[in-house]
Amino acid sequence: MHPFKHLQVILKHRHQVIRHCFRAGIGWQGLRHDLSKFSPEEFIPGARYFQGSRSPNEGEREAVGYSRAWMHHKGRNKHHFEYWTDYDPVKKQMRAVPMPVRYVAEMFCDRVAASKVYLKENYNDGSALAYFQRGKANRSIHPETSALLESWLVLLSEQGEKAAFAAVRQAVSARAPRAHLPSRRKAF
Ligand SMILES: [Zn+2]
Repeated sequence: MHPFKHLQVILKHRHQVIRHCFRAGIGWQGLRHDLSKFSPEEFIPGARYFQGSRSPNEGEREAVGYSRAWMHHKGRNKHHFEYWTDYDPVKKQMRAVPMPVRYVAEMFCDRVAASKVYLKENYNDGSALAYFQRGKANRSIHPETSALLESWLVLLSEQGEKAAFAAVRQAVSARAPRAHLPSRRKAF
């Protein structure tokens, strides 16, 4: 059991994600990032299978065969593409659903932050892209979501953080028209 080390990693990771989210134009959303990690369902297995250099979910999978902490996490956190899956009524099987841009943006911030926290001094602007590409073949993610995330990761690896966050910010503000949302003022 490593509750303090696990807590330290969560806090460090959240801090990094929040900083990224402010740069990506989704600061308020970033403040709520990964809060379910403080629930007992996620915190206890996280402390038990703590490893430091990779996610404790991997350790739980090796020990139990699957990760209950991860299932709890992905079902509640919209910045994971695994949340965005649903049953296809025609094909009668699970399929990936496109993610709203602001959650793709948070996923970008999350992946860059996780690469920094786990890789430490070995991190560079290409790290998050390399990690994304390693898992690409087996990932059940909507093609549009995958392409958008990858475009930002490529930009990061080729032009650095400033250019990548500018592109994310631009996409978030361009794709978040408020006009079609029901007006709160009219309702009262
Ligand atoms: Zn998360």
